[in-house]
Amino acid sequence: MLSTTGIIVFILLLAVAGYFMTMGAAKLYNKVRIGRPIERTDRLAERIMGFFGRQDCQRKIAREPAAALMHLPILYGVALFALGAVHLVLEKVLGLVIFGSPYFYLITEIGGIGLLFGILFSAVRRYIQKIPRLDVGTWKEERFIVFLISDISLVVIAFFLSYGFKLIASPDYFDQWRLSLAPGTLLVASLFSGVGPALAGKLEMVFWWVHIVAAFVLIGIPRYSPLIHPMAAPLNIIFRYLDDKIEPLERIDFEDEDRETFGVNKLSDFTWKDLLDCYACAECGRCQDNCPAYLTGKPLSPKKLLAKIKEHLDEIVPGEPRIKLSNGHIIFDQEPQKSEDDEDVKKLVGEVIDEEEIWACTTCRACREQCPNMNEHANKIIQLRRAYVLDESEFPAEAQLTFTNMERNSNPWGIGWNSRADWAADLGVKILGEAGDEGSNVEYLYYVGCAGSFDDRIKKVSVSLVKVLQAAGVSFGILGTEEKCCGDSARRLGNEYLFQSLVEENIETFKSYGVKKIITTCPHCFTTLKTDYKQFGADFEVIHHTQLIEQLISAGKIKPGSLGEKMKVTYHDSCYLGRYNEEYEAPRKIIGAIKELSLVEMERSREKGFCCGAGGGRMWLEEVIGKRINIARTEQALETDPQAIICNCPFCLTMLEDGLKDKDAVDRVKVYDVAELVVRATS
Ligand code: SF4
Ligand code: SF4
Repeated sequence: MLSTTGIIVFILLLAVAGYFMTMGAAKLYNKVRIGRPIERTDRLAERIMGFFGRQDCQRKIAREPAAALMHLPILYGVALFALGAVHLVLEKVLGLVIFGSPYFYLITEIGGIGLLFGILFSAVRRYIQKIPRLDVGTWKEERFIVFLISDISLVVIAFFLSYGFKLIASPDYFDQWRLSLAPGTLLVASLFSGVGPALAGKLEMVFWWVHIVAAFVLIGIPRYSPLIHPMAAPLNIIFRYLDDKIEPLERIDFEDEDRETFGVNKLSDFTWKDLLDCYACAECGRCQDNCPAYLTGKPLSPKKLLAKIKEHLDEIVPGEPRIKLSNGHIIFDQEPQKSEDDEDVKKLVGEVIDEEEIWACTTCRACREQCPNMNEHANKIIQLRRAYVLDESEFPAEAQLTFTNMERNSNPWGIGWNSRADWAADLGVKILGEAGDEGSNVEYLYYVGCAGSFDDRIKKVSVSLVKVLQAAGVSFGILGTEEKCCGDSARRLGNEYLFQSLVEENIETFKSYGVKKIITTCPHCFTTLKTDYKQFGADFEVIHHTQLIEQLISAGKIKPGSLGEKMKVTYHDSCYLGRYNEEYEAPRKIIGAIKELSLVEMERSREKGFCCGAGGGRMWLEEVIGKRINIARTEQALETDPQAIICNCPFCLTMLEDGLKDKDAVDRVKVYDVAELVVRATS
């Protein structure tokens, strides 16, 4: 046990570490609180319990075996080793030995060895293997990483040395017994067995103090470290969006007269949770490694996007907390922040984050899917787009044309709205407005969408679905010329105003026909109607056609027979059915139900599916920088040597057919929607 002087020194060091840790937390708080309010502190018990119950962060890390080998020993090692470290403090400061069992020391030291292994392996990956995605970009951050690796290693090694010398010094049978299974302690004791008991006793104390000082440095470091994700990431997960898998975009209240701008033009236009995201980022680069824009040479990296916002925030709001005496009172203050309007301060939109970065995103959510810390990138990008569209009126000319087409004809192509139902003219499909009372009695509204109504290739998919529904005896109708664009592209391109006007019109029409269930063939319509429309009071079920067809097959209402030929196929997961809605199985089950199809998966499939390049309104924009994303995806599909690529989305189908033309492969490889194959197999 420590002497009285030792206890006083320990308490002083503890107080200093606690002070620095509190100041570090205050600094983080000072920075993120400049963001707008958002309700993320409610249901605290659910948040905290959910945080401890979450396995997906570890699952995401474990997707890459080498990363798992590094990260999981650190994660679980810290938890186990901390028990031993706290126990060592209690033992030395209060003379308490709560756990005498040798198994306690065995487990905590295994944790310590795991932690040491993981931390040293992380250094190997970063500085010897030089894994590109781990690059943090700034020397300042790099120095902190080297320091952190060294300090954590020192905490663990000093712990083992302290107990090891204690074992050598102690004739006490109890000590000999309780440390008899502790691997780190035993190793040190055997390595230094020649040291005499008196010197060993002194060395035990020296290394105990080394262990304590190094541990306290770790506790206090958030005050100075630019990398504070160990503190911010757990908070970020606790304050996550609870109600759905997809965090919705903010619904802008255009009636709010106090609001001068609608997009994110400056840091304080983000919410505090958006800003916390940037500090929760571990700069692991998983998002970047899966970003189709980054991988095809566009100037967008989701990791760097967050880093840029963070660096800008650090510059504008130093957030350095200060405790001052004022009129005899202690007050908490902080360094004054700069104004984003100052001439010498870079503008967030256009200078800190380039225009090309903002328009390069396909909103595919691969970044969000891969991020172990639940960071949300695409919504930030869309809010930055809103600044261009709603506040500056400066955006790509093709986007302007798309908006005008949607406004005038309620479809992005600008084809006359009154031809919307022409594709269905000879199919005997009920059009709700023309079917009188009978129209209101259908079970499903088939919301055809713009591509299914106006694009010649996709009209064939609409016809196929109608044939499937008719064959299965499903009660359904369409809206015909009363159907309007769902507004997906308008919203993702940043034109929230146009989006909301389309939502209002559609919801009114749905209500007038008492619509309760909707089928879509387009995953963008599916997500928008199912998720985005909820913010506007929509109250209906939405099902994607692949889900419904799978249900019909399972119920025996559709019996796929022969295609007439064997076909080796690959399946392309659309981002909006897959990552947005976690629907990976239904289309695969349908493919599995058609016997002549043999499915070969692409390497990037399911959660790791690679975007076709058309999401987020990119369907309507030129792609002039880097390799075209649809070409990259087509090449990935061709690697499986398929006779057909099967998809579930009109945009993907179009992009992949274009890709095959570019690769001169249209004669040997076809692209089909799932519904087209089902029709072929059942007719
Ligand atoms: S949503 Fe997709 S394209 Fe956009 S940043 Fe994330 S990974 Fe990249
Ligand atoms: S945003 Fe997430 S995935 Fe991307 S670098 Fe940061 S922690 Fe890693």
